[in-house]
Amino acid sequence: MVFENLDEKIQNHTDWVLRRQRNIPNNRRLFVLACMDERLPVEEALGISLGDAHVFRNAGGLVTDDVIRSAMLTTNFFGTEEIIIVNHTECGMMSAKTETILRAIEQKVGSLAQVSLDPALPELTLTDPLAFGRWVKMFDDVDRIAETQVKLLRSHPLIPAHVTIHSYIYEIETERLRKPHERLAEHVNDARTMTEHPLLG
Ligand SMILES: [Zn+2]
Repeated sequence: MVFENLDEKIQNHTDWVLRRQRNIPNNRRLFVLACMDERLPVEEALGISLGDAHVFRNAGGLVTDDVIRSAMLTTNFFGTEEIIIVNHTECGMMSAKTETILRAIEQKVGSLAQVSLDPALPELTLTDPLAFGRWVKMFDDVDRIAETQVKLLRSHPLIPAHVTIHSYIYEIETERLRKPHERLAEHVNDARTMTEHPLLG
């Protein structure tokens, strides 16, 4: 009996190590895109742990070429069937205007014309400073940006149509996830936004 359990343990470990070779998906068949912010506890907020998901973090938790690359691979080849995007309040991507970032970077490095985005892929080059600004992707409304990320992935030809895609906002101030545009704080202190009680209606 002891040895049967041992065999199972060894088998499980072998499957864990050889997951990709054996076409075994991650435990939740999940790809997570989240901001890199140090205050955002992605795994804890989603209730996931080691082995559960492919997790991609960048500045803002925004859809970029490398997010498309990673999501394309995991949804087409690694058995992933769901994508969750986690943006958050007080994101650094809302802390400055694009023009401010452009000016500051130009002062440091000079002209932003012909900036290569990927040293190993010279074809990926921005030819004008305005495009550089769009590449940086500063934003000013976290609810809107969370919805936009879903649309960007949903409409992308490299992401299969059967994949479920949702976005959530992690509130740094309440340490909770919520859906875009469903801010609980707006409904608790203001009679204008309170839902009327049916018995008093
Ligand atoms: Zn952030």
